[in-house]
This record gives sequence, structure tokens and C-alpha cells, in this order.
Amino acid sequence: MASHRIRKAVDPHVLLLEVVGSERISPNVVRVTLGGEGLDRFTATGFDQWFRLFLPRPGQDSLKLPTRASGLWYAQYLATAKQKRPYVRNYTVRAHRPEQRELDVDFVVHLEPDGSCGPAASFALNAKPGDQAGLLDQGVGYNPRHEHDWTLLVADETGLPAVAGICESLPEDARGVAIVEIPSAEDRQEFRVPSGVRIDWVARNGAGGVPGELALTRLREAELPTGDVYAYLVGESALVTGGRRHLVEQQQVPKQNVDFIGYWRHGRAAM
Ligand SMILES: Cc1cc2nc3c(=O)[nH]c(=O)nc-3n(C[C@H](O)[C@H](O)[C@H](O)COP(=O)(O)OP(=O)(O)OC[C@H]3O[C@@H](n4cnc5c(N)ncnc54)[C@H](O)[C@@H]3O)c2cc1C
Repeated sequence: MASHRIRKAVDPHVLLLEVVGSERISPNVVRVTLGGEGLDRFTATGFDQWFRLFLPRPGQDSLKLPTRASGLWYAQYLATAKQKRPYVRNYTVRAHRPEQRELDVDFVVHLEPDGSCGPAASFALNAKPGDQAGLLDQGVGYNPRHEHDWTLLVADETGLPAVAGICESLPEDARGVAIVEIPSAEDRQEFRVPSGVRIDWVARNGAGGVPGELALTRLREAELPTGDVYAYLVGESALVTGGRRHLVEQQQVPKQNVDFIGYWRHGRAAM
């Protein structure tokens, strides 16, 4: 999934949380707010902090969570009978308010032509106070390991929380460009962006195609700043691999200056 070394989570725990609220914040995004005592053990690190989200399967009255926070959680998970395993998906911290014991997660609502959707999208659409979810911090993907003059971010809508978190965490003198594809212009969000960083929104607005295709086209056509770049690409698999290929082969960006994470793959469910 990731091409590079992720900044490890600080003091991770498997946390049992519960829904305290949910809101359709834009046509294609539901913001679910998680809370509960478990959140007292969560350490926020900013940027695109992401986590494993454990969700109950239909018919489960309580969520069966792994107990190991290290990589061993997965072995435990596999050792659990399939029908008792929770669903596991990956999500990004959109906001954390420790004083209110609240953590926001923005779920892209993606529906198949027949109206069905995956377990995480369904969880968000049906979320009601008291619903249980588990969280295991995985760290931060944005991880420049060399001096650079500017930052390039490329994402589809699933990477919008990452772009927002990174922009909110970058120093005020940061320079850069973020190309963000969203389903509709109304899915655009406001957040703190350093004055030297430009957000280039690309809205599909009903145009067909796989999410990420327009962002990739925009990247290929973009006039980008000069100087050493740190590029970070997240979203649908073809967007991030195609974007990296373009930067390395056409723009001669050194491979080590480009990191990417394939967040999801068109036509294929996660785990
Ligand atoms: C590190 C990381 C952080 C992420 N952060 C977020 C986040 O903050 N918000 C967010 O919304 N997503 C985020 N994602 C992406 C999310 O994990 C996937 O979209 C996930 O597959 C959704 O799970 P699901 O159960 O809804 O669908 P699945 O059961 O995984 O998939 C069902 C079907 O839906 C398709 N599908 C999955 N996602 C999408 C989509 N977005 N658009 C269209 N079709 C889709 C699949 O290809 C499959 O055909 C992140 C992924 C990673 C790896």
C-alpha cells in the first residue's frame, strides 16, 4: 500500500469508541464524530494521522477487537473465526478535540450503481449515537526525509482529510501546491492553508470515470514551481502510481522525493 517509511504511531492502543454524532457535511461526505473514554488514550500527531477502524459485522452485538497494538494485531485478527472478525478499514483523523473527547472522521459516501456500498460507507450513512467502533493509530504518512523547497500534494476525495491535516500542520512559511479531486464543487472544504500553498480543486461534477483520473490529468498539465520538491500522493491506486510515474519519468523528480499511498483500488473491496 505505501511505498515508503511511515512515521510510526506514538503510544498506540486499540481503543473502543462510540459514535457521538454524525452529519452530512457536503453532498458526498459524512462526518462521524467518535467519542468515549477510550479517546483519553489517543495521542494526536497532526498531519495525515491515520488509523485502522474496526467495525462490527451485521449480527454482532458487541465488537470483538484485537488486544495487541503492535503489528501482532493482524495475526490475532486472522486467528479469529471469520464470522466474528470485525470489518477493518483505514481512515484519517480529520479533527481531534481532546477537551471535548471528540474525534472527527470524514467518510466519502461511495455508492455502487445498485445503491449498495462497502461496510465503512454504510457505517457512516447509518451511524447513530452509541454505535461502537474500534481505532488503532497507525502514524503519519507525510514524511519528507530531505531538504526541499516546496511540497506537492495530490489526492482524490479520500485524501482530502490528509491534505487538510497536512496543510493545517505545515509551518506558515511552507510553499506548495495541492491538487485535490472532489466529486462535486460543493464537496470543497475550508481549512487553514499556509499563504504560500495553493489548493487546486478539481471537481468531477457528474463527469464519469474513476475518481482520481481528473487529478492525474491536472497533474500532467500543471505548471509546477521550480526547486526541490517533496511530493506526496494519496488516493485511488491508479492516481498515485500514475502520478509518481509522471513525476519521476517526465519531470525528472528523484524517486526518493516522491511518496505515495494507494488508499483504495477501483472495483476491489479493502481486506
Ligand atoms: C491510510 C488511509 C487513509 C484513508 N483515509 C480515508 C478517509 O479519511 N476518508 C475516506 O473516505 N477514505 C479514506 N481512505 C480510503 C478508504 O479506506 C477506502 O475507500 C475503503 O475502501 C472504504 O471502505 P468501504 O468499506 O466503504 O468500501 P470497500 O468494502 O473497501 O469497497 C467496496 C467497493 O467500493 C469501492 N470503493 C472504495 N472506496 C471508494 C471510494 N472512495 N469511491 C468509490 N468507490 C470506492 C471499492 O473499489 C469496492 O468496489 C483511506 C485509506 C487509507 C489506506
